[in-house]
Amino acid sequence: MDDTVAIIGAGYAGLACAVELASRGIPVTVFEHSHVLGGRARVVMKDGWRVDNGQHILIGAYTELARLLRMTGVSPKVFERLPFTLHSPGRLHLQAARLPAPLHLAVGLLRASGLDWADRRAMFRLMAHLKKIRFRLDPGQSVAHLLAQTEQTGRLVRWVWEPLCIAALNTPPTQASAQVFANVLRDSVAAGAAASELLIPRTDLSELFPVQAARYLAVRRGKMRTGTRIDAICPQPDGMKLEGDPAGRMYRHVVLACAPYHAAPLLRTTGSCERLARQVDELPHEPITTVYLALGAQVHLPHPMIALFDGPAQWAFDRGQLGSEPGLFACVISTHGPHEALSREDLEIEVHQQLERELGRRLPPPHWTRTITEKRATIACRPGLMRPGPRTPVNGLWLAGDYLESPYPATLESAVRSGTAAASGIRNSMAPPPAIP
Ligand SMILES: Cc1cc2nc3c(=O)[nH]c(=O)nc-3n(C[C@H](O)[C@H](O)[C@H](O)COP(=O)(O)OP(=O)(O)OC[C@H]3O[C@@H](n4cnc5c(N)ncnc54)[C@H](O)[C@@H]3O)c2cc1C
Repeated sequence: MDDTVAIIGAGYAGLACAVELASRGIPVTVFEHSHVLGGRARVVMKDGWRVDNGQHILIGAYTELARLLRMTGVSPKVFERLPFTLHSPGRLHLQAARLPAPLHLAVGLLRASGLDWADRRAMFRLMAHLKKIRFRLDPGQSVAHLLAQTEQTGRLVRWVWEPLCIAALNTPPTQASAQVFANVLRDSVAAGAAASELLIPRTDLSELFPVQAARYLAVRRGKMRTGTRIDAICPQPDGMKLEGDPAGRMYRHVVLACAPYHAAPLLRTTGSCERLARQVDELPHEPITTVYLALGAQVHLPHPMIALFDGPAQWAFDRGQLGSEPGLFACVISTHGPHEALSREDLEIEVHQQLERELGRRLPPPHWTRTITEKRATIACRPGLMRPGPRTPVNGLWLAGDYLESPYPATLESAVRSGTAAASGIRNSMAPPPAIP
Protein backbone atom coordinates (compact mmCIF):
# COMPACT_ATOMS: atom_id res chain seq x y z
CA MET A 1 0.00 0.00 0.00
CA ASP A 2 1.23 3.50 -0.89
CA ASP A 3 -0.47 6.84 -0.36
CA THR A 4 -2.60 6.69 -3.52
CA VAL A 5 -6.12 7.97 -2.89
CA ALA A 6 -8.96 6.14 -4.66
CA ILE A 7 -11.83 8.29 -5.90
CA ILE A 8 -15.07 6.63 -7.00
CA GLY A 9 -16.83 8.84 -9.56
CA ALA A 10 -15.53 11.27 -12.20
CA GLY A 11 -18.26 13.88 -11.85
CA TYR A 12 -17.38 17.44 -10.87
CA ALA A 13 -17.03 16.49 -7.16
CA GLY A 14 -14.68 13.54 -7.69
CA LEU A 15 -12.55 15.39 -10.21
CA ALA A 16 -12.31 18.51 -8.01
CA CYS A 17 -11.02 16.27 -5.22
CA ALA A 18 -8.58 14.54 -7.58
CA VAL A 19 -7.20 17.83 -8.96
CA GLU A 20 -6.82 19.32 -5.50
CA LEU A 21 -4.91 16.26 -4.20
CA ALA A 22 -2.75 15.95 -7.32
CA SER A 23 -1.82 19.63 -7.06
CA ARG A 24 -0.30 18.80 -3.64
CA GLY A 25 1.68 15.87 -5.02
CA ILE A 26 -0.70 13.18 -3.71
CA PRO A 27 -1.26 10.39 -6.27
CA VAL A 28 -4.87 9.56 -7.12
CA THR A 29 -6.74 6.87 -9.04
CA VAL A 30 -10.22 7.82 -10.24
CA PHE A 31 -12.69 5.02 -11.01
CA GLU A 32 -15.57 5.97 -13.30
CA HIS A 33 -18.33 3.61 -14.36
CA SER A 34 -19.08 5.47 -17.59
CA HIS A 35 -16.80 6.06 -20.58
CA VAL A 36 -17.83 9.74 -20.53
CA LEU A 37 -16.50 12.09 -17.85
CA GLY A 38 -18.77 14.54 -16.01
CA GLY A 39 -21.58 12.48 -14.45
CA ARG A 40 -24.72 14.60 -14.29
CA ALA A 41 -22.92 17.37 -16.21
CA ARG A 42 -21.71 15.61 -19.35
CA VAL A 43 -21.79 15.73 -23.12
CA VAL A 44 -24.27 13.58 -25.03
CA MET A 45 -23.58 12.76 -28.68
CA LYS A 46 -26.40 11.78 -31.03
CA ASP A 47 -26.91 11.97 -34.81
CA GLY A 48 -23.72 14.03 -35.14
CA TRP A 49 -24.92 16.61 -32.56
CA ARG A 50 -23.04 17.38 -29.35
CA VAL A 51 -25.36 18.57 -26.59
CA ASP A 52 -25.28 18.39 -22.82
CA ASN A 53 -27.44 16.08 -20.73
CA GLY A 54 -28.98 19.36 -19.50
CA GLN A 55 -28.42 23.05 -20.04
CA HIS A 56 -26.34 24.40 -17.13
CA ILE A 57 -25.86 27.94 -15.90
CA LEU A 58 -23.52 29.32 -13.24
CA ILE A 59 -23.27 32.62 -11.41
CA GLY A 60 -20.28 34.83 -10.71
CA ALA A 61 -20.53 33.99 -6.99
CA TYR A 62 -19.56 30.38 -7.67
CA THR A 63 -15.86 30.95 -7.08
CA GLU A 64 -14.52 27.49 -6.26
CA LEU A 65 -15.27 26.09 -9.70
CA ALA A 66 -13.73 29.25 -11.18
CA ARG A 67 -10.54 28.60 -9.14
CA LEU A 68 -10.33 24.98 -10.30
CA LEU A 69 -10.87 26.02 -13.91
CA ARG A 70 -7.99 28.50 -13.64
CA MET A 71 -5.84 25.83 -11.99
CA THR A 72 -6.45 23.38 -14.83
CA GLY A 73 -5.70 26.01 -17.45
CA VAL A 74 -9.24 26.73 -18.68
CA SER A 75 -9.65 30.14 -20.30
CA PRO A 76 -12.27 32.44 -18.73
CA LYS A 77 -13.53 32.94 -22.29
CA VAL A 78 -15.10 29.48 -22.03
CA PHE A 79 -18.10 31.28 -20.48
CA GLU A 80 -20.53 33.73 -21.98
CA ARG A 81 -20.79 36.26 -19.15
CA LEU A 82 -24.06 38.16 -19.05
CA PRO A 83 -25.12 40.79 -16.55
CA PHE A 84 -27.85 39.41 -14.29
CA THR A 85 -30.84 39.53 -16.66
CA LEU A 86 -34.43 38.35 -16.59
CA HIS A 87 -35.92 38.75 -20.04
CA SER A 88 -39.32 37.50 -21.13
CA PRO A 89 -40.36 38.84 -24.57
CA GLY A 90 -43.15 41.44 -24.35
CA ARG A 91 -43.47 40.88 -20.61
CA LEU A 92 -40.42 41.70 -18.55
CA HIS A 93 -36.90 43.04 -18.88
CA LEU A 94 -34.82 43.36 -15.73
CA GLN A 95 -31.05 43.72 -16.05
CA ALA A 96 -28.47 44.62 -13.41
CA ALA A 97 -26.53 47.77 -14.34
CA ARG A 98 -22.74 47.58 -14.64
CA LEU A 99 -22.29 49.58 -11.41
CA PRO A 100 -21.00 48.78 -7.92
CA ALA A 101 -23.42 47.16 -5.44
CA PRO A 102 -26.08 48.07 -4.45
CA LEU A 103 -26.45 50.50 -7.37
CA HIS A 104 -26.25 47.70 -9.93
CA LEU A 105 -29.57 46.32 -8.68
CA ALA A 106 -31.22 49.63 -7.76
CA VAL A 107 -30.55 51.18 -11.18
CA GLY A 108 -31.47 47.91 -12.92
CA LEU A 109 -34.77 47.84 -11.06
CA LEU A 110 -35.54 51.48 -11.83
CA ARG A 111 -34.87 50.88 -15.53
CA ALA A 112 -36.81 47.58 -15.64
CA SER A 113 -39.79 47.28 -17.97
CA GLY A 114 -42.87 45.24 -17.11
CA LEU A 115 -42.79 46.06 -13.38
CA ASP A 116 -44.78 48.83 -11.68
CA TRP A 117 -43.87 50.81 -8.57
CA ALA A 118 -45.58 48.37 -6.22
CA ASP A 119 -43.37 45.58 -7.67
CA ARG A 120 -40.21 47.65 -7.32
CA ARG A 121 -41.05 48.60 -3.73
CA ALA A 122 -41.77 44.96 -2.89
CA MET A 123 -38.41 43.85 -4.29
CA PHE A 124 -36.55 46.49 -2.28
CA ARG A 125 -38.58 45.40 0.77
CA LEU A 126 -37.46 41.77 0.43
CA MET A 127 -33.80 42.66 -0.09
CA ALA A 128 -33.88 45.16 2.84
CA HIS A 129 -35.52 42.52 5.05
CA LEU A 130 -32.84 39.96 4.21
CA LYS A 131 -30.07 42.48 4.87
CA LYS A 132 -31.64 43.49 8.18
CA ILE A 133 -31.71 39.90 9.40
CA ARG A 134 -28.22 39.36 7.90
CA PHE A 135 -29.57 36.69 5.59
CA ARG A 136 -30.18 34.37 8.55
CA LEU A 137 -33.58 32.72 8.45
CA ASP A 138 -35.51 30.07 10.27
CA PRO A 139 -34.19 26.82 8.76
CA GLY A 140 -37.76 25.52 8.53
CA GLN A 141 -39.03 28.48 6.46
CA SER A 142 -40.00 28.01 2.81
CA VAL A 143 -39.37 30.51 0.02
CA ALA A 144 -43.17 30.89 -0.44
CA HIS A 145 -43.48 31.84 3.23
CA LEU A 146 -40.67 34.39 2.95
CA LEU A 147 -42.34 35.93 -0.12
CA ALA A 148 -45.69 36.17 1.70
CA GLN A 149 -44.06 37.58 4.84
CA THR A 150 -42.42 40.39 2.85
CA GLU A 151 -45.63 41.06 0.86
CA GLN A 152 -44.29 40.38 -2.60
CA THR A 153 -46.72 41.24 -5.40
CA GLY A 154 -48.31 38.47 -7.48
CA ARG A 155 -46.41 39.66 -10.57
CA LEU A 156 -43.03 39.62 -8.79
CA VAL A 157 -43.69 36.16 -7.41
CA ARG A 158 -44.72 34.77 -10.81
CA TRP A 159 -42.24 36.58 -13.05
CA VAL A 160 -39.18 36.98 -10.84
CA TRP A 161 -39.03 34.97 -7.61
CA GLU A 162 -40.57 31.72 -8.79
CA PRO A 163 -38.36 31.39 -11.90
CA LEU A 164 -35.27 32.38 -9.90
CA CYS A 165 -36.06 29.93 -7.11
CA ILE A 166 -36.66 27.07 -9.54
CA ALA A 167 -33.55 27.93 -11.59
CA ALA A 168 -31.28 28.19 -8.55
CA LEU A 169 -32.69 25.49 -6.25
CA ASN A 170 -34.54 23.19 -8.70
CA THR A 171 -37.35 23.21 -6.15
CA PRO A 172 -40.69 25.09 -6.28
CA PRO A 173 -41.05 28.01 -3.80
CA THR A 174 -43.65 26.20 -1.65
CA GLN A 175 -41.13 23.41 -0.99
CA ALA A 176 -37.83 25.32 -1.22
CA SER A 177 -35.59 26.38 1.66
CA ALA A 178 -35.75 30.16 2.23
CA GLN A 179 -32.30 29.98 3.89
CA VAL A 180 -30.60 28.43 0.86
CA PHE A 181 -32.41 30.86 -1.48
CA ALA A 182 -31.26 33.75 0.72
CA ASN A 183 -27.67 32.43 0.61
CA VAL A 184 -27.75 32.50 -3.19
CA LEU A 185 -29.23 36.04 -3.22
CA ARG A 186 -26.69 37.21 -0.61
CA ASP A 187 -23.68 35.99 -2.57
CA SER A 188 -25.00 37.00 -6.03
CA VAL A 189 -27.42 39.88 -6.58
CA ALA A 190 -26.80 41.42 -3.14
CA ALA A 191 -23.01 41.11 -3.46
CA GLY A 192 -22.34 43.06 -6.65
CA ALA A 193 -22.43 43.14 -10.42
CA ALA A 194 -19.64 40.57 -10.94
CA ALA A 195 -21.03 38.11 -8.37
CA SER A 196 -24.49 38.32 -9.94
CA GLU A 197 -23.27 37.73 -13.51
CA LEU A 198 -24.73 34.73 -15.30
CA LEU A 199 -22.10 32.40 -16.73
CA ILE A 200 -23.18 30.09 -19.52
CA PRO A 201 -20.63 27.55 -20.81
CA ARG A 202 -19.73 28.00 -24.50
CA THR A 203 -18.34 24.47 -24.57
CA ASP A 204 -19.88 21.16 -23.56
CA LEU A 205 -19.90 20.19 -19.90
CA SER A 206 -17.45 17.27 -20.24
CA GLU A 207 -14.96 19.52 -22.01
CA LEU A 208 -15.49 22.45 -19.60
CA PHE A 209 -13.79 20.87 -16.58
CA PRO A 210 -13.73 17.02 -16.54
CA VAL A 211 -11.56 16.57 -19.65
CA GLN A 212 -9.23 19.37 -18.53
CA ALA A 213 -9.05 17.81 -15.07
CA ALA A 214 -8.14 14.43 -16.60
CA ARG A 215 -5.31 16.09 -18.58
CA TYR A 216 -4.11 17.82 -15.42
CA LEU A 217 -4.06 14.49 -13.56
CA ALA A 218 -2.30 12.64 -16.37
CA VAL A 219 0.90 14.67 -15.87
CA ARG A 220 0.73 14.46 -12.06
CA ARG A 221 0.79 10.70 -11.41
CA GLY A 222 -3.00 10.56 -11.58
CA LYS A 223 -4.75 7.52 -13.09
CA MET A 224 -8.17 7.61 -14.69
CA ARG A 225 -9.98 4.26 -14.92
CA THR A 226 -13.08 4.88 -17.04
CA GLY A 227 -15.51 2.05 -17.79
CA THR A 228 -14.73 0.67 -14.31
CA ARG A 229 -17.55 0.20 -11.84
CA ILE A 230 -16.78 -0.23 -8.18
CA ASP A 231 -19.21 -2.75 -6.69
CA ALA A 232 -18.18 -2.74 -3.03
CA ILE A 233 -15.93 -1.01 -0.54
CA CYS A 234 -14.33 -3.61 1.72
CA PRO A 235 -12.70 -2.25 4.89
CA GLN A 236 -9.60 -4.22 6.00
CA PRO A 237 -7.53 -3.84 9.17
CA ASP A 238 -5.11 -1.45 7.45
CA GLY A 239 -7.14 0.19 4.68
CA MET A 240 -9.82 -0.57 2.09
CA LYS A 241 -10.07 -2.78 -0.98
CA LEU A 242 -12.46 -1.98 -3.79
CA GLU A 243 -14.40 -4.71 -5.54
CA GLY A 244 -14.04 -3.93 -9.23
CA ASP A 245 -10.56 -2.39 -8.97
CA PRO A 246 -8.55 -4.36 -11.59
CA ALA A 247 -5.33 -3.72 -9.62
CA GLY A 248 -6.84 -5.15 -6.40
CA ARG A 249 -4.89 -2.62 -4.32
CA MET A 250 -5.32 -1.51 -0.73
CA TYR A 251 -6.15 2.18 -0.15
CA ARG A 252 -5.83 4.10 3.08
CA HIS A 253 -8.15 6.83 1.73
CA VAL A 254 -11.20 6.39 -0.51
CA VAL A 255 -13.51 9.20 -1.65
CA LEU A 256 -17.02 8.11 -2.58
CA ALA A 257 -18.02 10.80 -5.10
CA CYS A 258 -21.20 9.35 -6.60
CA ALA A 259 -24.74 10.73 -6.78
CA PRO A 260 -26.69 9.94 -3.57
CA TYR A 261 -28.61 7.04 -5.16
CA HIS A 262 -25.30 5.35 -6.08
CA ALA A 263 -23.47 6.35 -2.90
CA ALA A 264 -26.00 4.79 -0.50
CA PRO A 265 -25.70 1.18 -1.80
CA LEU A 266 -21.89 1.46 -1.79
CA LEU A 267 -21.92 2.78 1.78
CA ARG A 268 -23.94 -0.31 2.77
CA THR A 269 -21.26 -2.62 1.35
CA THR A 270 -18.85 -1.42 4.06
CA GLY A 271 -21.01 -3.15 6.68
CA SER A 272 -20.81 -0.19 9.08
CA CYS A 273 -22.52 2.81 7.43
CA GLU A 274 -26.19 1.76 7.62
CA ARG A 275 -27.41 4.95 9.35
CA LEU A 276 -25.54 7.23 6.95
CA ALA A 277 -26.76 5.18 3.97
CA ARG A 278 -30.34 5.59 5.19
CA GLN A 279 -29.89 9.34 5.55
CA VAL A 280 -28.51 9.56 1.98
CA ASP A 281 -31.28 7.29 0.65
CA GLU A 282 -33.98 9.47 2.19
CA LEU A 283 -32.89 12.65 0.39
CA PRO A 284 -35.72 13.75 -1.92
CA HIS A 285 -34.99 14.41 -5.61
CA GLU A 286 -36.29 16.66 -8.37
CA PRO A 287 -36.14 16.04 -12.13
CA ILE A 288 -34.97 18.31 -14.97
CA THR A 289 -35.95 17.84 -18.61
CA THR A 290 -34.13 19.58 -21.46
CA VAL A 291 -35.82 19.73 -24.87
CA TYR A 292 -33.41 20.51 -27.72
CA LEU A 293 -34.96 21.87 -30.91
CA ALA A 294 -32.89 22.60 -34.04
CA LEU A 295 -34.91 25.20 -35.94
CA GLY A 296 -32.39 26.48 -38.49
CA ALA A 297 -29.74 29.20 -38.54
CA GLN A 298 -32.22 31.95 -39.37
CA VAL A 299 -33.99 31.64 -35.96
CA HIS A 300 -32.65 33.69 -33.03
CA LEU A 301 -33.88 34.64 -29.58
CA PRO A 302 -33.83 38.30 -28.53
CA HIS A 303 -31.41 37.33 -25.71
CA PRO A 304 -29.15 34.28 -25.25
CA MET A 305 -31.47 33.16 -22.43
CA ILE A 306 -35.16 34.02 -22.02
CA ALA A 307 -37.73 33.19 -19.35
CA LEU A 308 -40.88 31.38 -20.51
CA PHE A 309 -44.23 31.27 -18.71
CA ASP A 310 -46.93 30.17 -21.10
CA GLY A 311 -46.36 26.38 -21.27
CA PRO A 312 -44.20 23.57 -19.89
CA ALA A 313 -40.73 25.14 -20.44
CA GLN A 314 -39.38 27.74 -18.02
CA TRP A 315 -36.28 28.89 -19.91
CA ALA A 316 -35.02 28.81 -23.49
CA PHE A 317 -31.34 29.16 -24.40
CA ASP A 318 -30.21 30.20 -27.86
CA ARG A 319 -27.24 27.83 -28.20
CA GLY A 320 -26.23 29.59 -31.41
CA GLN A 321 -25.39 32.67 -29.33
CA LEU A 322 -23.52 30.43 -26.87
CA GLY A 323 -20.93 28.73 -29.00
CA SER A 324 -23.03 25.89 -30.50
CA GLU A 325 -24.76 25.51 -33.87
CA PRO A 326 -26.88 28.53 -34.87
CA GLY A 327 -30.59 27.76 -34.58
CA LEU A 328 -30.21 25.17 -31.78
CA PHE A 329 -32.39 25.87 -28.72
CA ALA A 330 -32.27 24.26 -25.28
CA CYS A 331 -35.62 24.54 -23.46
CA VAL A 332 -35.50 23.68 -19.78
CA ILE A 333 -38.27 22.24 -17.57
CA SER A 334 -37.26 21.95 -13.93
CA THR A 335 -39.05 20.07 -11.13
CA HIS A 336 -42.24 18.00 -11.40
CA GLY A 337 -45.24 19.07 -13.48
CA PRO A 338 -47.98 18.05 -15.90
CA HIS A 339 -45.34 17.70 -18.68
CA GLU A 340 -44.31 14.39 -17.09
CA ALA A 341 -47.53 12.79 -18.41
CA LEU A 342 -46.71 13.66 -22.05
CA SER A 343 -44.92 11.45 -24.54
CA ARG A 344 -41.56 12.74 -25.81
CA GLU A 345 -43.08 13.69 -29.19
CA ASP A 346 -46.05 15.53 -27.61
CA LEU A 347 -43.75 17.40 -25.22
CA GLU A 348 -41.54 18.54 -28.12
CA ILE A 349 -44.65 19.76 -30.01
CA GLU A 350 -45.89 21.62 -26.91
CA VAL A 351 -42.54 23.29 -26.32
CA HIS A 352 -42.30 24.31 -30.00
CA GLN A 353 -45.81 25.82 -29.83
CA GLN A 354 -44.90 27.54 -26.55
CA LEU A 355 -41.85 29.15 -28.17
CA GLU A 356 -44.09 30.39 -31.03
CA ARG A 357 -46.57 31.90 -28.56
CA GLU A 358 -43.90 33.54 -26.44
CA LEU A 359 -42.00 34.96 -29.42
CA GLY A 360 -45.25 35.97 -31.15
CA ARG A 361 -44.33 34.45 -34.53
CA ARG A 362 -44.39 31.23 -36.49
CA LEU A 363 -41.23 29.13 -36.31
CA PRO A 364 -39.99 26.52 -38.78
CA PRO A 365 -40.58 22.91 -37.72
CA PRO A 366 -37.54 21.39 -35.99
CA HIS A 367 -35.22 19.36 -38.23
CA TRP A 368 -33.72 17.64 -35.17
CA THR A 369 -34.99 17.15 -31.62
CA ARG A 370 -33.66 15.49 -28.53
CA THR A 371 -35.32 15.37 -25.12
CA ILE A 372 -33.27 14.32 -22.10
CA THR A 373 -34.93 13.75 -18.75
CA GLU A 374 -32.79 13.37 -15.67
CA LYS A 375 -35.31 11.96 -13.19
CA ARG A 376 -33.04 12.54 -10.20
CA ALA A 377 -31.20 15.62 -11.46
CA THR A 378 -30.58 17.10 -8.02
CA ILE A 379 -31.79 16.73 -4.47
CA ALA A 380 -34.86 18.83 -3.63
CA CYS A 381 -33.59 21.76 -1.58
CA ARG A 382 -36.24 21.63 1.15
CA PRO A 383 -36.36 23.59 4.43
CA GLY A 384 -34.46 21.89 7.23
CA LEU A 385 -33.05 19.19 4.96
CA MET A 386 -30.26 17.28 6.73
CA ARG A 387 -27.43 17.03 4.20
CA PRO A 388 -24.59 14.77 5.39
CA GLY A 389 -21.02 15.95 5.93
CA PRO A 390 -17.88 14.53 4.27
CA ARG A 391 -16.94 12.07 7.02
CA THR A 392 -18.20 8.50 7.33
CA PRO A 393 -17.97 5.98 10.20
CA VAL A 394 -15.22 4.14 8.28
CA ASN A 395 -11.76 5.52 8.96
CA GLY A 396 -10.32 6.89 5.68
CA LEU A 397 -13.64 6.77 3.75
CA TRP A 398 -14.89 10.23 2.69
CA LEU A 399 -17.95 11.47 0.86
CA ALA A 400 -18.04 14.06 -1.91
CA GLY A 401 -20.99 15.20 -4.01
CA ASP A 402 -23.41 18.04 -4.62
CA TYR A 403 -25.85 16.66 -2.02
CA LEU A 404 -23.48 17.16 0.94
CA GLU A 405 -23.90 20.04 3.39
CA SER A 406 -23.35 23.35 1.66
CA PRO A 407 -24.67 26.90 1.85
CA TYR A 408 -25.78 26.43 -1.76
CA PRO A 409 -28.24 24.16 -3.51
CA ALA A 410 -27.08 20.99 -5.29
CA THR A 411 -25.04 22.64 -8.04
CA LEU A 412 -21.69 22.31 -9.76
CA GLU A 413 -20.34 24.71 -7.13
CA SER A 414 -21.54 22.57 -4.22
CA ALA A 415 -20.11 19.51 -6.00
CA VAL A 416 -16.61 20.97 -6.42
CA ARG A 417 -16.63 22.48 -2.93
CA SER A 418 -17.40 19.06 -1.47
CA GLY A 419 -14.53 17.59 -3.51
CA THR A 420 -11.98 20.10 -2.26
CA ALA A 421 -13.33 19.70 1.31
CA ALA A 422 -12.72 15.93 1.13
CA ALA A 423 -9.23 16.60 -0.27
CA SER A 424 -8.32 18.90 2.60
CA GLY A 425 -9.71 16.37 5.13
CA ILE A 426 -7.42 13.74 3.61
CA ARG A 427 -4.40 16.04 3.54
CA ASN A 428 -4.92 16.96 7.19
CA SER A 429 -5.14 13.33 8.22
CA MET A 430 -1.95 12.57 6.27
CA ALA A 431 -0.01 15.38 7.92
CA PRO A 432 2.77 14.05 10.18
CA PRO A 433 2.14 14.51 13.92
CA PRO A 434 3.78 17.62 15.38
CA ALA A 435 7.37 17.07 16.51
CA ILE A 436 7.87 16.57 20.26
CA PRO A 437 10.08 19.38 21.55
C1 LIG B 1 -30.35 18.37 -16.22
C2 LIG B 1 -29.52 19.02 -15.15
C3 LIG B 1 -29.39 20.40 -15.11
C4 LIG B 1 -28.61 21.00 -14.11
N1 LIG B 1 -28.45 22.37 -14.12
C5 LIG B 1 -27.53 22.92 -13.30
C6 LIG B 1 -27.19 24.29 -13.41
O1 LIG B 1 -27.75 25.01 -14.25
N2 LIG B 1 -26.22 24.78 -12.60
C7 LIG B 1 -25.57 24.01 -11.68
O2 LIG B 1 -24.65 24.51 -11.02
N3 LIG B 1 -25.90 22.71 -11.52
C8 LIG B 1 -26.85 22.15 -12.31
N4 LIG B 1 -27.14 20.81 -12.19
C9 LIG B 1 -26.56 20.05 -11.09
C10 LIG B 1 -25.14 19.55 -11.40
O3 LIG B 1 -25.08 18.91 -12.64
C11 LIG B 1 -24.76 18.58 -10.31
O4 LIG B 1 -24.84 19.25 -9.08
C12 LIG B 1 -23.34 18.01 -10.45
O5 LIG B 1 -23.07 17.59 -11.76
C13 LIG B 1 -23.18 16.85 -9.48
O6 LIG B 1 -21.84 16.38 -9.54
P1 LIG B 1 -21.33 15.21 -8.60
O7 LIG B 1 -19.91 15.02 -8.93
O8 LIG B 1 -21.74 15.49 -7.20
O9 LIG B 1 -22.18 13.91 -9.02
P2 LIG B 1 -22.29 13.16 -10.43
O10 LIG B 1 -22.20 14.15 -11.52
O11 LIG B 1 -23.53 12.34 -10.36
O12 LIG B 1 -21.00 12.24 -10.51
C14 LIG B 1 -20.95 10.95 -9.98
C15 LIG B 1 -20.13 10.04 -10.89
O13 LIG B 1 -19.98 8.77 -10.25
C16 LIG B 1 -20.06 7.76 -11.22
N5 LIG B 1 -20.41 6.50 -10.52
C17 LIG B 1 -21.57 6.19 -9.90
N6 LIG B 1 -21.50 4.97 -9.35
C18 LIG B 1 -20.24 4.49 -9.63
C19 LIG B 1 -19.56 3.26 -9.31
N7 LIG B 1 -20.15 2.29 -8.60
N8 LIG B 1 -18.29 3.11 -9.75
C20 LIG B 1 -17.67 4.10 -10.49
N9 LIG B 1 -18.29 5.27 -10.81
C21 LIG B 1 -19.56 5.45 -10.38
C22 LIG B 1 -21.15 8.26 -12.15
O14 LIG B 1 -21.09 7.62 -13.41
C23 LIG B 1 -20.82 9.75 -12.22
O15 LIG B 1 -19.94 10.05 -13.28
C24 LIG B 1 -27.96 20.19 -13.13
C25 LIG B 1 -28.11 18.81 -13.17
C26 LIG B 1 -28.85 18.22 -14.17
C27 LIG B 1 -28.96 16.71 -14.20
